[in-house]
Parts: sequence; C-alpha cells; structure tokens
Amino acid sequence: MPEGDTIFRTARALGRALAGRPITGFRSTYPMLTRCHDDAPLTGQTVDRVEPRGKWLLMHFSGGATLVTHMLMNGSWHIYRPGQAWQRPRADMRILIETRDYHAVGFRVPVAEMHTAQSLARNSRIPQPQIDVLGESFDADEAVRRLLSHSEEAIADVLLDQCVLAGIGNVFKSEVCCVTGVHPYCKVSALTPAQARGLVAAARKLVSANVLEDSGDAIVTYGGRQRRTTHESDPGANLWVYGRAGQPCRRCGGPIAHRLQGLNARVTFWCPRCQPMPDDSDVDG
Ligand SMILES: [Zn+2]
Repeated sequence: MPEGDTIFRTARALGRALAGRPITGFRSTYPMLTRCHDDAPLTGQTVDRVEPRGKWLLMHFSGGATLVTHMLMNGSWHIYRPGQAWQRPRADMRILIETRDYHAVGFRVPVAEMHTAQSLARNSRIPQPQIDVLGESFDADEAVRRLLSHSEEAIADVLLDQCVLAGIGNVFKSEVCCVTGVHPYCKVSALTPAQARGLVAAARKLVSANVLEDSGDAIVTYGGRQRRTTHESDPGANLWVYGRAGQPCRRCGGPIAHRLQGLNARVTFWCPRCQPMPDDSDVDG
C-alpha cells in the first residue's frame, strides 16, 4: 500500500502537471463522479492545488469541489502527455482528467469521492492537515497526546492508526520502532515520555526524508545505503529492519525477528536485542 511519502510525491507531481491549467475533459467509470460532473462540469474549471493528507489525495477544483481518492493496495495516478501510450490497460482507467498539456489517469483507484468544503470538514475518515506527519501544520505535541491515549494497545498497531498519525504505513511502522529502540509489541502505557516524543519525531523525520526532490521510488530509512556497493536490488537494502527477517541487525548483528501483528495481521520486523521489551508490557504475546 502506498504510504504517506508516496502520496505526497504523487500529489506534488499531479499539482505541477495540472494546477492552474483549464480542464479540457473529464471522464470516470464511477457514476457518482460523472453525475457531479454533469451537475457542475469540471471542464473549464482549473485544478487549484493537489493536497496529500496521509494516504489520501485531495484535488481541489476552482469551482469549489474536491476530488478525494485513496489508492488502497492497487490504485495509482499516472501523468501522460496527450497522445502518449498509457502503461496500464484502458480497462483499468477509473478517472481521466485532461488539460491541454497533460492527462492525469487514475488507474484502479478504488475509493473516489467528490466533496464540498463542508462535507470534507465533516468527514472523519479523511485526516485533518494537522494529523498528517508531512503536513505543514502538523502538531507534534498533539500527536504525542493522541498516541498516549491508546494506552492499552501495542505501539506498532497505534502507529498504523491514521487518526493518530496520518501517513504511516506498514514499512514505516517497523522502521520508526527500530530507530527509536522501542519493541513493536510494547504497550503504549509502558513507553517513557521521551520514547513517545521520539516515536513521533522519528515518524515525521523518516517520512519527510522520503519526499525530498532527489528521493527515488524506494523507501529509504537506513542512512548507510550510500556506502553499500552490493545487493542494491535487495528490497531491504534501504531499510533498517523491514523485509530483513533473519538477516543481521545493522547495529548489533543479531538476527531480525518478524511476526504478524494486530487484528489485521500486518507483518512487523524488529531487532530483539536493540528493541528490548520492558517488563510486563507485552500486549498479545
Ligand atoms: Zn540489533
């Protein structure tokens, strides 16, 4: 699933291609979107800006409407020049927004809703900007308070809660715990205040590092990548622990552990030596 950094880069690219240019065509396979377009045509309007919010992408139109999409596992936005061949089958197209210079195509985007400013503010699934770890108005103190309110849950599960920190997905979950030395199964109530603050700071820092202009497609949290000369194709080469089960910890050399965690059984990776469990704080074994 795309995490916050991917959505941020997608929004940035879409914004550069579309913003300020008149829309010349709009199509969708979703009846709800085409009905909105029939009622208040997007053609002739412009895209004011494209905003990432956690894992959600918000496209604001000059007429006041906002197209909100979520990629879940398989959705993606592509940008093409008019006439350029698409890299995905036509049948996968769900949304097409055309300007004179660029076409934006949403392929297999599973969640797509048209909102007004009012319905957007009321919607509890779409995070407000101050909850987004990449948001300019992100409030770290408030994020620590939200995190600590889940006192009986395991920290790794709480990091995935998009109402606590929007934009953290399964890869960053393990990486954030690793760089802060916190066991992913540690109960939130067992965290020290410094650990709670450190987790929030690490979440913002690691995701932010992946939206720099020169950051590539791979998620990078392990700073030693530049020193490596081999195994560059290893999907875990850029990461501290994610995807590295059984491989040596980059700090202590011990084997990286992994286990399915939480109600949704999401895989978690950690170093048992560098991320020790405080006494009596194990949530669910
Ligand atoms: Zn270790």
